[in-house]
Amino acid sequence: MGRGLKVIVGLRGLTMKVEIDLDVCVGHGKCYLVAPEVFQPSDDLGRAKIVREVSSAEADLLRRTRNAVAGCPEGALRIANED
Ligand code: SF4
Repeated sequence: MGRGLKVIVGLRGLTMKVEIDLDVCVGHGKCYLVAPEVFQPSDDLGRAKIVREVSSAEADLLRRTRNAVAGCPEGALRIANED
């Protein structure tokens, strides 16, 4: 029973998803500099786009992605699946 509970907790933390509010993003690219694996410019919109999720195994990228979200001057980014 205890082993099953550990598996469920592990699966919940498998990936971190980030959302962007395109009505708020101004496209100045601070997020690209911090975590270019996750944030890239959108050619169509002139704003940022999210290109991938981050695995819980990617500790450095998780840290940089959280920093990018916290450092967005416009508050356009949020982590969608973490409390
Ligand atoms: S730092 Fe924020 S406002 Fe600037 S491009 Fe990234 S998401 Fe958009």
